[in-house]
Amino acid sequence: MEPLQKEYQRLWKRTQSSKTISDVQATINLLQEARDTIANNPNSASITLAKLQNPVKASFDATNDSLKEAHSGLNKYTKALDRLFKDKPLPSTEYDALSSHPTLVNRAIAMHLLREGQFSVAATFLSEVAKNPTPTQTANEDRSPEDDAAASVLDMDQLQSREIQRQFKLMYHILHELKQECNLLPAIEWAATNRERLEARGSNLEFELCRLQFVWLFHGGNNPSVPMVVGRQMALDYAKREFTVFQKRHLKELQQLLGAMAFAPNLEDSPYSAIFNNPSAWSEVANSFTREFCSLLGLSADSPLYIAATAGTIALPTLLKLKSIMKAKRTEWTSENELPVEIPLPPSYQFHSIFVCPVSKEQSTDENPPMMMPCRHVICQESLMRLSKGGKFKCPYCPNESHPRDAQKVFL
Ligand SMILES: [Zn+2]
Repeated sequence: MEPLQKEYQRLWKRTQSSKTISDVQATINLLQEARDTIANNPNSASITLAKLQNPVKASFDATNDSLKEAHSGLNKYTKALDRLFKDKPLPSTEYDALSSHPTLVNRAIAMHLLREGQFSVAATFLSEVAKNPTPTQTANEDRSPEDDAAASVLDMDQLQSREIQRQFKLMYHILHELKQECNLLPAIEWAATNRERLEARGSNLEFELCRLQFVWLFHGGNNPSVPMVVGRQMALDYAKREFTVFQKRHLKELQQLLGAMAFAPNLEDSPYSAIFNNPSAWSEVANSFTREFCSLLGLSADSPLYIAATAGTIALPTLLKLKSIMKAKRTEWTSENELPVEIPLPPSYQFHSIFVCPVSKEQSTDENPPMMMPCRHVICQESLMRLSKGGKFKCPYCPNESHPRDAQKVFL
């Protein structure tokens, strides 16, 4: 993997430092100037064109040179890729679970583009999907209920995509102001407008934003070179004006902020230093803003398509290995909708707990949920029914006896 990463970095650096685009733009500028000159004074045509010859040739040469460099970088990278993956088999399309759900796939792609802020690409994609319906969209006889549901979601999206687009444009505008301009006000305004819904979720976003605004003003706001007393006064004025709404929920944090003012000349050595000198405060607040904004739209903070593709990439080597073993041993993958092996994913990719019944060793499902007996031991409903046969029975894990009607369903 290391040589590949090296080549990738080299290629990335090369494309970043490449002057091709500016070279091409310089050529375009030259040509446009010449066109304007000739348009203004048609008599100057021959001399203008003659003067143009050398600079245009030089500019073309420069462009070609940098293109050559880019090509050689790309070649080396491709070779490094080939070397690394030469003997690795590619996944076959035999078990293509997605090809029967083009509508779902299209919807995931469109949503991904929208939430990445690629609005014009998303608009083009949606219009092309509408113009080129996939076979499953047109062939009615083979439609599954899920496809119908997905199709209606996509239709609804198309109707509402303007609204979703508007929302994401707003999100990107607020994030731009926050990250690039150090302007928290649009985010604060959004959080105040949605105060009730945010509080119902237990979110502290509005307070976090206002606290950062207080800290920013204390450090002088737009003008960091102002004397400390001026910054402190701006922060205190802000607190007087805006902090009353937080008195109930955040009294302790407010006391910390205002208490810190007493240490003002020497905040560094105060117990509040971390609040006032937190280099990651802006990115943290931007992340929680994105998370809350998406959750109010009923969406996760990360794009599901990105998560699915990444999880799939992590799983691929294991699944390919499994496939070759199954081929060698001539066995089949029989369990439906379930992977035959464990795929360890990083903790951030684990979204909900699973329960495996200690009696049947099966994973619980909606139809076969985990049930807790009065002794607090948990087994799956099917195991419970099998063991009890409808009457009193002994827990498989302790001496207690219980009746199936006393067992409670456990929600994961
Ligand atoms: Zn028990």
